[in-house]
Amino acid sequence: MADLLSLAEAQSRVLERVAALPSEPLSIWEAAGRVLAEDALATVDLPPFPSSAMDGFAVRAADTPGRLPVVARIAAGVPAPRSLAAGEAMEIATGGVVPDGADAVVPVEYVVENDNNVEIAKAAAGDHVRPRGGDVGAGEVVVERGARLGAAQLGALAASGLDTIAVARRPRVAILSTGTELRRPGERLGPGEVYEANGLLLTTSLAASGAQVELLPAVPDDESAHRAALEHGLEADVLVTSGGVSVGPHDLVRRILGELGVEEVFWRVAVKPGKPVAFGVRGTTLVFGLPGNPVSSLVAAELFVRPALLALQGATTPGPVFREGRLGAAVRRSTQRDELVRARTRASDDGIVLEPVTGQESHMIVRAAAAAALVLVPRGEGELAAGERVRYLLLA
Ligand code: AMP
Ligand code: MG
Repeated sequence: MADLLSLAEAQSRVLERVAALPSEPLSIWEAAGRVLAEDALATVDLPPFPSSAMDGFAVRAADTPGRLPVVARIAAGVPAPRSLAAGEAMEIATGGVVPDGADAVVPVEYVVENDNNVEIAKAAAGDHVRPRGGDVGAGEVVVERGARLGAAQLGALAASGLDTIAVARRPRVAILSTGTELRRPGERLGPGEVYEANGLLLTTSLAASGAQVELLPAVPDDESAHRAALEHGLEADVLVTSGGVSVGPHDLVRRILGELGVEEVFWRVAVKPGKPVAFGVRGTTLVFGLPGNPVSSLVAAELFVRPALLALQGATTPGPVFREGRLGAAVRRSTQRDELVRARTRASDDGIVLEPVTGQESHMIVRAAAAAALVLVPRGEGELAAGERVRYLLLA
């Protein structure tokens, strides 16, 4: 199988064909999971004023240790009443404005207060004072373009006073399952029929990478049904099909895509499962023909489609992101193909241990559903021993 494209080569051929989608302004409240199209710049210094990191007393370090009169009490959210003079203390809440003249806060736990006076041990200048702009300065970068917005990034944008940001448009993705044998879950199976799993599987996987999915009704292995559905799907930014890309007489997807003007970039990759995966382009539309076995579709979506979706959105690191762990059991290697082995994960003193699930065949979606990871087992002779270092992808 010297003719098979390597996994790495196939992944780079996909990314070569991606051109970033245009950007649009968006409210931060709608932006979870989106990718920033421009650096987001702080509207204010953060913190916006020197603020107290503790509930305690604002003082001049030079006045400590000592017994100081408490001349004011400062809550969060109000201006300091006046400057602090030499020999004075002001009670202050966490987040309160440290008054001019004060250079340290002594936590309340270290203070004895009586008769409106505080007994204070030695403090150093800067203790428990958060300087203005210590996190970020006004006009500086809060989150860089190409970053995907999760909880911390959105929190940072909000804290920095941004309410609208520029993000890449979400890719419109059409998903089409092919196969005469497919029935909708909930219907009754006739002879030779199976339930259609890939539509929902792919919708879920790709939506998690920012896709705006249109799930088309599954089509039978019939030329005119294929042609109409594929033609419609090609209007999207990305068309993802499942089934019908192997070498059987009813595998129609590649031929009809070709008739519809899709240039095939590659077909068949040295990967297991997922070998018959096809990739092509028509204009700016990317077309992925995934094999029909549900685990093949799942794996191919992780390896090829999700990275393409993030790249379309301008992500700096489109992935897939491999982590490092150790095998919990020996695994036979395939001589011809890199294999993505479905595994459970377990934490140990020595990091993550990956336990392959029983049932590694590509139709065994129920076995795969017990797995949290795809372990990359590079092609080669023999086996990888238990305890061997491996790379793996986390399944969402
Ligand atoms: P194919 O890639 O069309 O040759 O299909 C390979 C295997 O996957 C066959 O056993 C199909 O019945 C099965 N299959 C194809 N598409 C789906 C689907 N959407 N849901 C569940 N099984 C499928
Ligand atoms: Mg089929």
